[in-house]
Amino acid sequence: MFQLAEEIKGAGSIGISGHIRPDGDCVGSCMALYLYLKKCVGPETEVSVYLEPPADVFADIEGIAEIKKPDETDTPPELFFALDCESSRLGDARRLFDGAGRRINIDHHISNTGCGMVNVVDPGASSTSEVVYRLLDRSRIDAEIAKALYIGIIHDTGVFQYSNTSPETLRIAAELVSHGFDFSALIQKTFYEKTYIQNQIMGRALLESILFLHGRGIVSVVDRKVMDFYNAVPQDLDGIVSLLRNTKGVECAIFMYETDAMVYKVSMRSSDLVDVAKIASYFGGGGHKKAAGCTMSGTFHDVVNNLSLHIERQLEEA
Ligand code: 5GP
Ligand code: MN
Repeated sequence: MFQLAEEIKGAGSIGISGHIRPDGDCVGSCMALYLYLKKCVGPETEVSVYLEPPADVFADIEGIAEIKKPDETDTPPELFFALDCESSRLGDARRLFDGAGRRINIDHHISNTGCGMVNVVDPGASSTSEVVYRLLDRSRIDAEIAKALYIGIIHDTGVFQYSNTSPETLRIAAELVSHGFDFSALIQKTFYEKTYIQNQIMGRALLESILFLHGRGIVSVVDRKVMDFYNAVPQDLDGIVSLLRNTKGVECAIFMYETDAMVYKVSMRSSDLVDVAKIASYFGGGGHKKAAGCTMSGTFHDVVNNLSLHIERQLEEA
């Protein structure tokens, strides 16, 4: 049984990080663990959190301004927590993780085989934030920690809509909101609110989407020209793939954007019939059964054809 209090005992320096292009669960779980550990350790222990700059919508999370860049230090901490991913997705923080004396991996991705000396990976949990919550001493959770965990949970469950939402998830959420933060405003601001530009790109992606496999698949792409035209960053594209999946009759939605010439970051969302984690893993990515991603190269049509083959095979078997 993993005991967080035992792990941090005597550590002179502790680092925390999550995956590149951090999403709500990554930011929420890292910040919650950061705030919690800072409360638990003495003045002799330095706790640091390393992440790529989170989206502006997360600016109200306490401590967000204290996030460090991995290249700010050459010395790996004694103890390092990798959250919401395997070490291969830590980006620049991987160096710190690999060099740490003790490495702990906390995650909920089914594709994660565990990269730590200790691995707390629960594919049954809604989110890494839910896994982190279970490791904390409840009496030490305050409103700011609760808020960060709540953000992580609402982002990975689509505000309690997706099938990863369990009775346990809802019990934890109930416990968290009892700390009295304004959860309605938090959901609106961090999940639903879009900038005008974000809505325009979303509208364009929907308008230009293409059905395939007789309407059981849908795909849309945003190329670099469009990204440049709107001066958009990848975070501006969040949520597009979920809207594509809402299309009636669709079993699998694909959204991709061009990161380099002929290189695409692919996001997939599916119904019960298609396991997109399997497909993403096949192409070097990962994720969950109904939400996964990978990076692929080739033309747009190459990428769609390659993915479509796997989707079709799974639909035939289903
Ligand atoms: P999204 O489509 O929102 O970027 O990601 C959906 C899910 O798949 C998330 O849980 C995310 O962590 C995972 N995921 C997305 N892209 C990758 C990837 O390239 N590699 C791995 N291992 N997981 C990914
Ligand atoms: Mn994540």
